Amino acid sequence: MSGPFQLPDLPYAYDALAPVISSDTVTLHHDKHHAAYYNALNGLVEGTAMAEMTLEEVVVKSGNDASLAKMFNQAGQAWNHIIYWEQMAPGGASTPSGKLAEMIDRDFGSFDEMKAQFVQTAVTTFGAGWAWLAMDGGKLELISSSNAGNPLAMGKTTLCGVDVWEHAYYLDYQNRRPDHVKAVLDSAVNWSYVGERLEDAL
Ligand code: MN
Repeated sequence: MSGPFQLPDLPYAYDALAPVISSDTVTLHHDKHHAAYYNALNGLVEGTAMAEMTLEEVVVKSGNDASLAKMFNQAGQAWNHIIYWEQMAPGGASTPSGKLAEMIDRDFGSFDEMKAQFVQTAVTTFGAGWAWLAMDGGKLELISSSNAGNPLAMGKTTLCGVDVWEHAYYLDYQNRRPDHVKAVLDSAVNWSYVGERLEDAL
């Protein structure tokens, strides 16, 4: 691959998230889908000022300029999947502690209630997109975004994102998006890591 933006390696083995997400799904999702967003992005920025920017800068700029919608589709997806892979914990999830636990209880009532609302947010995202746990103005919130949309482009802090494009779950769960999202939140997301993201932003 050539170009200014380089696909990060998967931060664990391809089978590390099984059975929540199978090795086949992780392999296709990282090596084909995530890689394709990088390839397309590198093609689009070639010869432009954006080739000198960070990926985050490209996401914010293209996400707030309708004339750069094609760029945002690729840059947003390149960035979203970094968030997605990094937040997962091989071997199962931890539970929130510290400030994250406090804020979840304050803003949602309980961890279980937050996860239930997260699943609903994912299920009601029409078509391809993402469900996010984000922070805005010191308050946690759940966001549904279409296609490549993300809290970063909205000026919010991104804490956790679940990909609800069919490529993220169809091999393993077919049409059962709610089951997939519930399994990811219950048994794959590393909530300690999500808590670190929150602490870094406070
Ligand atoms: Mn994806």
